[in-house]
Amino acid sequence: MKKTIRFFIKNRILVAILLLLALSSWSTVALASANAVVVQSDSVNVRIGPGLSYANMGQVKKGDKLAILDEKNKWYQVRLSGDKIGWVASWLIDNTDVSSATNKVGIVKVPNTTVFKNADAGSNVLGTIEQSQKVTIMYQEQDWTQILYNGTAGWVKSSFIQGTQETSGSSNSSNTSDNDIKKVTVTQPNTKLRIEPDQNGRVVKTAKVGKQFDYLSKDGKWYKVRDSDGSVGYVASWVVTISGTKSAVKSAATNISEATIVIDPGHGGNDSGAESKKSTYEKNFTLAYAKAIKQELEKTGARVVLTRSGDDSKSLGERARLSSKIQADAFISLHFDSSAEDNAGSGVTTYYYNKDKDGSLADDLNSQLKNLSIGNRGTAQKDLYVLHYNSQPSVLIELGYINSKSDYKYINSANYKAEVAKDVANGLKEYFK
Ligand SMILES: [Zn+2]
Repeated sequence: MKKTIRFFIKNRILVAILLLLALSSWSTVALASANAVVVQSDSVNVRIGPGLSYANMGQVKKGDKLAILDEKNKWYQVRLSGDKIGWVASWLIDNTDVSSATNKVGIVKVPNTTVFKNADAGSNVLGTIEQSQKVTIMYQEQDWTQILYNGTAGWVKSSFIQGTQETSGSSNSSNTSDNDIKKVTVTQPNTKLRIEPDQNGRVVKTAKVGKQFDYLSKDGKWYKVRDSDGSVGYVASWVVTISGTKSAVKSAATNISEATIVIDPGHGGNDSGAESKKSTYEKNFTLAYAKAIKQELEKTGARVVLTRSGDDSKSLGERARLSSKIQADAFISLHFDSSAEDNAGSGVTTYYYNKDKDGSLADDLNSQLKNLSIGNRGTAQKDLYVLHYNSQPSVLIELGYINSKSDYKYINSANYKAEVAKDVANGLKEYFK
């Protein structure tokens, strides 16, 4: 069943996406046009934040239904059973088959019911809804109900909505025994530690995503926890995840499938790059290689974004900024070397700029590139713009000398291109392990 619903994204995300579209010809995928999806992959990791760098809190499996709450950097924030909230890579979730059954319709029974951004009367007000209006209910907690409001998610007091069902504590609790719980990890920004197990309880402190507390006890849908400084309070069970449980899920999904990788074909447009003896140009080879690498990487499930997919001029700043904007897990710039004198140079070199940030990416890629037909010159540190001004792990690979007769024979062959694509994919698999 297919159901069309207005885009479920925030304006700033839309702006970021439009910027990206302007920067690259990255193909448009269905934005979270669905508010509930059914998982099609065998197994997809759920993380505590929108990216591969966040801790894994479990997995969803084929057939699982997920309510999508938000989208950030192409990751969906989803609600799982047991009131947990986590993030999944949107490209691993096939949302063509939308489940509408997970949503109920409610009727507003109070005039000018306020819609809040969060399940908190102190959060921003998104607007108001008139009495008797129908709303799509996405999720319910005891006191708060999440509804679809102007294409985004908003919260209203459950007591203001008719057709609401009180969720029972037992049906929402996960299958973990509370005695096993050791640590409680915050999964939502600005999570409040309250003096009482109640939304209106005085706030003891505010915690960031990833913050861990010691678990003390459970009180209804709240956990009593202790911070390292000794302070004790309650956090809502639906904004945290619990660890130290016997039923922790072992991840079967590969990490690379969750990675966002930027491939940067060097040069382009007016900038042809180096010229071969056959009057062919570096910019065309870098693009062809980038496309081959993209194709190979996509077999792993990874999300691959090219800085250019045609013969476009892109500034070095644009290339580096794209990497930062989409929080790439790896950025790989492709080039071909040229020596001052023809036939004077040969070999493949992997450059990094910041050893701490880029070093292991360079090592993992280069150890695979050693298998290539063209000799390997190793890794080297170099102050290159697309690496220096790149906030993400990044490398620049020179895939041989374009003005060397012996290197060019390989560079111009489909075999060598396929070898490079395989080696880059293998190097990244190793890197993301
Ligand atoms: Zn170049």
